[in-house]
Formats: sequence, structure tokens, C-alpha cells
Amino acid sequence: MSNWLQQITRPEIWSMKGYSSARSEMADFAGMIQLDANENPFLPYPMSKEVHQLNRYPEPQPKAVISRLAAIYGVHKDQVLVARGMDEVMDLLVRVFCIPYKDSILFTPPTYGYYQVAADISGVGIVKVNLEDDFSLDADKLINAGRNKVKIVFLCTPNNPTGNMIDIAVIEKIALNMPNSIIAVDEAYMEFADAPSAVSLLNKYPNMVVMKTLSKAYAFAGVRVGTLLASNEIIKLIGKVIAPYPIPVPSINLIIQALSPFGLEVANSNIDVIKLERERMYQELSKVSGIHVYKSQANYLLIKVSEASSVYQHFLSRGIIIRNRSRDIPNTIRISIGTVLENNLVLRAFGVDIKEYLVSERTAVIVRKTNETDILARVNLDKKEPVKISTGIGFFDHMLEQLAKHGGFSLEISAKGDTHIDYHHTVEDVAISLGQALKNALGDKRGINRYGFVLPMDEANAAASIDLSGRGVLVFKANFPTPLIGEFPVELVEHFFLSFSDKLEAAIHLSATGGNAHHMVEGLFKACAKALNQAIKETSDDIPSTKGSI
Ligand SMILES: *Cc1c(COP(=O)(O)O)cnc(C)c1O
Repeated sequence: MSNWLQQITRPEIWSMKGYSSARSEMADFAGMIQLDANENPFLPYPMSKEVHQLNRYPEPQPKAVISRLAAIYGVHKDQVLVARGMDEVMDLLVRVFCIPYKDSILFTPPTYGYYQVAADISGVGIVKVNLEDDFSLDADKLINAGRNKVKIVFLCTPNNPTGNMIDIAVIEKIALNMPNSIIAVDEAYMEFADAPSAVSLLNKYPNMVVMKTLSKAYAFAGVRVGTLLASNEIIKLIGKVIAPYPIPVPSINLIIQALSPFGLEVANSNIDVIKLERERMYQELSKVSGIHVYKSQANYLLIKVSEASSVYQHFLSRGIIIRNRSRDIPNTIRISIGTVLENNLVLRAFGVDIKEYLVSERTAVIVRKTNETDILARVNLDKKEPVKISTGIGFFDHMLEQLAKHGGFSLEISAKGDTHIDYHHTVEDVAISLGQALKNALGDKRGINRYGFVLPMDEANAAASIDLSGRGVLVFKANFPTPLIGEFPVELVEHFFLSFSDKLEAAIHLSATGGNAHHMVEGLFKACAKALNQAIKETSDDIPSTKGSI
């Protein structure tokens, strides 16, 4: 054990033995009769599948969660501790290192409010080093104010509420020059930023710790999970103080699902949307006169207005709650980035003309989960980019790219299926999700052509016609000369279009001739795409049916 850590730890914490729970003493109790923890052998009411295992205490530090988090954050498993939200992590740090009525922590206003609260609760002193006028942090000023005087320095990056980053070189300088303080970096919003994480400094500076949360980027605020990343020595020390079984069983089960490879793809896709929306909001609001919008690397914007309390009231009267941050920075408000619709309502409240946004965006997202497949399908009929396809089947990816490219729409598909068994489930479930997504994006079909057709194209010998009629019908004529294209069974092509036409509720006629199955299939996808491209085009404000609806 290092002398250094012992010197900065509260002596009673250093010498105490943590609570040893029934679960923590046994590495693996699966299959054993569990009469060790005074649990109740019966399931609670109601006895549904969801309460399975709820009569048992959870693992104190659930292994499956720890190893997923270690992989995501890029650290070793023994450098991870999970707690009930990052706020509890801060509280634990203060309780382990700070002697009440003697020690202090340091933070850099304007910043997150809980550092002060954690100190106040524990009777711990506070040293404040204000950010500069441009919200940057002066490392030398902080080091002079805190060196050998404070036990913990809390640094928030991207900073809440200002949205800017602390330069990683500044963090490193502080860690290097304050070796007798814990440098605790709060990265609650780091997933939204285009800048390096301080995690890369962990192995270089034993006094550095990084705090993470699933509340923001992973949309899990209601589950309450925060993470401490630190040296194993510090992790063990904090582990002595944390409550015996901090993470409830239902939360553990949900976290494992959310952090699965597919869950992460959904999260990352949503993060991408939020970042795009942040940029759009920044651009639009920068044009509004009388306010100043600060650049943000997080999922909110700080805005300087002429009178924050009246702006706040104005939003409230429109049913929108925002945060008045004037107590920390005069006449500022902080607005979270919401859905496209919510953001448009914010723009409108600022007097921005949003007509352009209300008519043009035809988008949809489908997340579909079955026992065999996990599918995410996102379409935007009014954008051509991005086209990102990953189904685990190379040939199929290529065909779907053709469909999006020649269909002229943005398409993201991520599918995780049992392709090791066969391709059937994945192809069918992608077809279902894609058809459904396109149908949802089309909405009431106002203004579209509805029909599209493509005559046989020389190189492909394929023809297609489409009527977005509201009724799924497929007429498919193709005699493939070979049953396989590489490892891809050609019969799945008809299957794909059958499920696709059914969910899109479209009449689709496809035919192809030729001597090469690969060319024929590619021709079919291209022809279908071009017909679709015509059919989904908006040309008027009318619904293209004499009945007034389709
Ligand atoms: C929201 C927030 C947290 C809280 O994280 P939880 O895991 O939900 O407790 C921590 N730090 C900052 C800067 C935040 O904005």
C-alpha cells in the first residue's frame, strides 16, 4: 500500500474494515442453496418474470456491469466502481478523503452545484477558483489557491452550465502539480464532446480519478448509475465506504441490456442526433438578435439574454421549462437539447420562423428487438446523408446501400442477429423494420407522387413499379440461375421484398432476367430504389388520391 494514499485518506477510513456482505464473500453462488443472507425464499407479489431474483440481494459490484463499463471507458476492470449516480461518487470521495471541520475541497464556479452540497453535508470547507470571463480555467491560479490546502479538486468538463471543455493540458498540469490532492474529473457530458477524455491520464497520475454517469448520454437518469474510474487502490478504498448493495437488481438487468453492443449502437445513434440538433440550435439561435449563445460541447446551450427571469416566464407560459442560471452568471438561461420537435418549439419561443422545419423533415426511427435480432432503423426522406448500414451480412449491406443511395434518402441500419445460424431472421427483420420506418416517415403521404416505375435497365435487366397504396402486395418475377451469391441464399431476396412491401403497405412489382444472380439482385434493388425515389418525392400539398387519404 502506498504511503502517499494513506497520508491523504481519513485515518479512520484507512484503518477500518468495510462491511462484508453475504454476497461479497462468495465469488460465485450460482446453483447453491442460498441460506446465508436471511433472504426470503419466496418471490414477492406479483410473481411475474420481472421479479425473478428480486428476493435475493444483488451483487455488491455486479461483474457483468463492471466489465461492460471497463470496456466502454477503456480501463481495466479493477479500476471501476459503480454507485447510485455520480452524485453518490462525489459524496463517497468527500467522505473518504476529507476530515470534517478540517479539510477542504476546491471547485471552479460557475459549475455544477453538487460539489458544494457534498462538502456542506460532510462539514467540509470550500475553496472556490472562478473560471475566467471566457469560462476557461487558469491552471496556475488554481494550483496556487489549492496546492497542499485542499484534499479534492473537482473539475467539470464539459462544464455545466457553460458547456465548454477544460483543456486536457490544463487538467494534466493540475494533476502533476497537486500530487497531494485527488483530482476528480466530472465527465458527465463527455460523450457529447469532440475532445479527448481525461481517462487517458489515469495510469500516469495516481491522484487522478474520473467520474462518469449513464444519466445523460445513455438516457438512464432514472436508473441511477454513476461510475468512478481510478487506480485499484482508490477503488478498494471507496469500496469500503459505499452502501453494501448499492445497485438494485432491476437496474442491473436494465444496465446490462443498455450496454449490450446493440444498446450502445442505439445510444450512439441518439448521441449523433443530439449533436446535430445542438449544432442546428446553435446556428439558428445565433441569428436571433439581443441574445448570445455560447458554443457547447454538451447536450445543452447556455444563452445570455437581456432579462433572464422574463425569458424564463415567457417559456413557462408556453409550457417549456428551462433553467435560469442567473445566480451563477447574470442573465443567463440553460436549455437542454430535446427532440427535433421540442427544439423547434424552443426556436419558435425565440421568434424563429420554423415553417421550413415543420414541413420538410420526414423522419422515423424504429427499434425492434426479438429473440433472434436487434434492429435499429432510422430514415430521413429529406436528407441523403448519412447512409450507414451494418447488418453483419456484407452482400446485404451492399444491397441496402443501393436502396438508400438510389432511393435518395438517408438510412441508418444497425442489425445484430443470429447470422451464425442463418441469414433468414436478420434479412426478414431488417425488411420489416425498414418498411415500417419508411411508412412512418411518409406519415399521411401529403404531397408525394405516390407512384414510381423504372423500365428495364440495360445493364441490370430489372424493372420495378411501386404504388404507395396503403396495401402491401408483391409481384416478384425472377429466375435466378444459381441459388447462392457467395454465402447469401438468393431466395431471401423475394422474402425481403415480401416483408418490405407488407410493412411499407405498398404494391411493388419487380422483375429481373439475366444469367448472373448477383447482377440481377443488384438490379432489383436499384430499380426498386429508383421507383421508390419517384414515389416518395414531394411535389404538391395534396394527398395523391381521389379518396383524400391513402
Ligand atoms: C447531471 C450531472 C451529474 C449527475 O450525475 P448522476 O449520475 O445522475 O448523479 C454529475 N455531474 C454533472 C456535471 C451533471 O450535470
